[in-house]
Amino acid sequence: MGRIRILPDQVANKIAAGEVVERPASVVKELLENSLDAGATDLRVEVEAGGRRLIRIVDDGCGMLRDDALLAFERHATSKLRDVKDLLSITTLGFRGEALPSIASVSRLLLETRAAEEATGTRIEIAGGKMLRCEEAALGGGTAIAVRDLFFNVPARRKFLRTEPTELAHIASLVTHYSLAHPGKTFRLTSGPAELLSVTPVATTKERVYQVFGSHVLEELVDIGVRERELFIPPPSVPPSQGIAEYRSQPGPDDDPPKRTFRLSGFFSRPQVQKGNRNSIYIFVNGRLIRDRLMLHALSSAYHNLMPSSAYPFALLFLEMDAEEVDVNVHPSKTEVRFRHGSFVHDFVRDTIRERLMESRPAPAFSPAPPRSATPPAQMAAQLPYSEFSQMIENEEPVRGSDQSRDREGAVSLAEGTPKGTAATQRVAATGQDTGEDTREDTLPEFTLRPTRGPDPRLDFSAPPIEVTPGPPPSGKLSRRLDMHGEFPADAIPPPETSLSVLSDLRPLGQIHESFIIAAGRDGLWIIDQHVAHERILFEQVLKQRAAGRVEMQRLLMPLILQLTPEQQIDYARIADELHESGFETEPFGNRTIAVKAAPAAVGAADLERVLFEILEIAEGELRGTSLDDLRRNICASIACRAAIKINMRLDAAKMEWLLRALAATDCPMSCPHGRPIAMHYGTREILKAFHRI
Ligand code: ADP
Ligand code: MG
Repeated sequence: MGRIRILPDQVANKIAAGEVVERPASVVKELLENSLDAGATDLRVEVEAGGRRLIRIVDDGCGMLRDDALLAFERHATSKLRDVKDLLSITTLGFRGEALPSIASVSRLLLETRAAEEATGTRIEIAGGKMLRCEEAALGGGTAIAVRDLFFNVPARRKFLRTEPTELAHIASLVTHYSLAHPGKTFRLTSGPAELLSVTPVATTKERVYQVFGSHVLEELVDIGVRERELFIPPPSVPPSQGIAEYRSQPGPDDDPPKRTFRLSGFFSRPQVQKGNRNSIYIFVNGRLIRDRLMLHALSSAYHNLMPSSAYPFALLFLEMDAEEVDVNVHPSKTEVRFRHGSFVHDFVRDTIRERLMESRPAPAFSPAPPRSATPPAQMAAQLPYSEFSQMIENEEPVRGSDQSRDREGAVSLAEGTPKGTAATQRVAATGQDTGEDTREDTLPEFTLRPTRGPDPRLDFSAPPIEVTPGPPPSGKLSRRLDMHGEFPADAIPPPETSLSVLSDLRPLGQIHESFIIAAGRDGLWIIDQHVAHERILFEQVLKQRAAGRVEMQRLLMPLILQLTPEQQIDYARIADELHESGFETEPFGNRTIAVKAAPAAVGAADLERVLFEILEIAEGELRGTSLDDLRRNICASIACRAAIKINMRLDAAKMEWLLRALAATDCPMSCPHGRPIAMHYGTREILKAFHRI
């Protein structure tokens, strides 16, 4: 007798559950996606004990016919796909027909559903994959699925679950994500008696961002609007997945080359908003929440030289494209995708964000946080500082003993990750019952869009520089009496100026600490860091010279001989050409030594050695996959940094004026090539408020 057996369905379902159901949040994800696929406009999620005891999702979607309701729990039973050709153009979130049987095999599940075309509904109860009950029931339209005691029959999995607050935070993050992608729908998330998210339909994503995060966050974001780019596909094309390649129809010789339109919309933060992790990055492709290295790379490239590489922005990106342009059948949890034209997508996203960043030219303001009463607070769910999807990418260590995880780059079982936000999320659970707003900002800084970290500024700009404690607004009587101090004509208050395009109008007044230029502008006061400002000017200048192949060089009287380590020697060989193009004339000089004969004119002889070693260090860091373009920019940044005027240096009025003009003429006057802010703004309105004039 042979040794190979076909596994019974129950076992197969449990195996599938291992991939599809990693934790309570994965159940919420699958059920929410089903509800969305069913056309629901009202989605309610109730959980208890972080989803371990109960997850219940109620929708007003199309519901299921009696026979379908039974079939839905069979393996590979789906209404969304008929044959393999359909895989090329999936527009629904689900398609594998795996979720319901998988979930039902590891929990006690109760399904209640009624389709509009049937008079009565269906109630089905399943525990650990065994059907306990299937009966007719008087039910309203739509579907309700309750999943109790997740993993009750898989103790190994249950052990891997994190604390309840952490699991709850994953769920909250997920529901928040989906609510952002579907502004026209109602979403509600409750944990026991506590309401974590409740949003009603609105017309635009912007309004939804406002509902979820509050006005404070919205003000800090740049709206992409809708940007498009077209791709003309040169035949023959490369199919994303070999298995379905044969079904792809090839264009005939007479056809016009097929054209595809890619569309990007959403919001992202200005470079001053710097997060310590990727938890505030939300990426949707055709309405599907994904985690994707390519998109993350495109995003960080957009901020290259505007933000330190260790920092991350807030981003909510919606990428739309023809369904054939993206293969969603990459992994059972459907959170990974493969783009058919990956580098096109990458460049489109990078360029669009970069362009919008440049256009908005934002400057950080000193303004103290607006009074709380004027700002609708963010919803509780939005404040839970944890994102399942970003965490998975963050953790690059493959799980030991799991070949599959090793194959999928960076996709690591969440159960292994140590959540960073645990302390904070526990705090949420502790205050879960009340809406403890007062304490929230201190304990949950993640979603507050103030710079949360930065590259060790020489002065701490995170606090307002002047002790301003706006008191209660003066009563009418009092303010009239104050008039004797001189009235500030109301029409003289300029509109608030947050764009750095006004830099060219600034009048330098002097320096503080011989390091920062104080300048008066149309709207208030500006402080400019002289070193980083000059760095930005030189950086763009060097970059332009480099692009035009006209880097100014100077010959050294005596070649500078540098001794390299074996590692540096390898890096040197790799970037020697790039060094040459950037103005360094170097050649190998014996064993692990190089001779530098000429250098960019901007770099003084005294700094030369340091600059070169710095560049070699960058090259070392860049070896793993960074583009030549990034390396080039980093070399230019190094040169600019060494050549720029230093802090603690007196500047006369003419020099300050020159610096401000030159800065205003740069493409990106808001941050230095390493991502530090250049200018701070204290608006007239804030000044007037501080003096109780308004
Ligand atoms: P898939 O979503 O990949 O098709 P699932 O196992 O998640 O597979 O669901 C199986 C089928 O059950 C779906 O194709 C759909 O027809 C039906 N279904 C599941 N959830 C709902 C729901 N909330 N409303 C209506 N139909 C549903
Ligand atoms: Mg599904």
